[in-house]
Amino acid sequence: MTRSVLVTGGNRGLGLAIARAFAAAGDAVAVTHRGSGAPDGLLGVKCDVTDSSQVARAFEEIKEAHGPVEVLVSNAGITDDALLLRMREESFTRVIDTNLTGAYRVARAAVSDMIRARHGRMIFISSVAGTKGVPGQANYAASKAGLIGLARALARELAARGVTSNVIAPGLLDTDMTSELTDRYKQQILDEVPLGRTATLDEIAAAAVWLASADAASVTGQVITIDGGGSLGH
Ligand code: NDP
Repeated sequence: MTRSVLVTGGNRGLGLAIARAFAAAGDAVAVTHRGSGAPDGLLGVKCDVTDSSQVARAFEEIKEAHGPVEVLVSNAGITDDALLLRMREESFTRVIDTNLTGAYRVARAAVSDMIRARHGRMIFISSVAGTKGVPGQANYAASKAGLIGLARALARELAARGVTSNVIAPGLLDTDMTSELTDRYKQQILDEVPLGRTATLDEIAAAAVWLASADAASVTGQVITIDGGGSLGH
């Protein structure tokens, strides 16, 4: 059955890989963008997740085109790295506003239709930065750890309504977000990874598709870490 899926930040990077995986599985997929438009085959809705009114409008557009959102993948995210000594308050609050409060905004917009349908899937894209901590990423790590608390609270709150809420925590991925990291820094990360490599975007996307599937109906409040084993024990 075709479901209505929304992937925030699904216009590029990991979000696009996730959006394409759902589309390949036969779902009707919408992605947010902030002006770039959407790749072919996906419904683009212009939406900055830091703006509640844009979020509300995006959900209305999707409802009209595909029906109420049944699967929400909250993926939009940013970094703004600095050591704490140099981290401006604006940088801290901007990253939290996008990565964490943005996820709250889209979950809030999705929840009433999911409750009404007595079915829904919320998937939050966190990061191993949120569980391990990464120097220079106090803002980002705090936002990504916050997503785990958010998802687990929602898991308990919404379980009786047939809605599951889970987190995927990837390790290092090859996207624009990491394109400026030096090869030396990336190699340092890989040196700590038992499998010797982190995940591909398609591997993360496959986990999202599974979490939204009937096979994962009994999975809620979980953090699925996909990082080649690099954060084992955290
Ligand atoms: P990219 O920088 O490639 O893409 C970021 C996406 O988020 C873009 O689609 C961007 O939209 C969107 N976005 C950013 N801010 C907003 C906003 N205010 N409103 C709406 N959309 C917004 O990053 P990745 O694909 O790598 O990251 C995707 C997710 O995966 C993020 O949450 C990230 O934290 C997480 N992650 C990434 C890892 C990595 O190594 N890359 C590792 C672990 C987790 P636009 O095109 O308009 O800018």
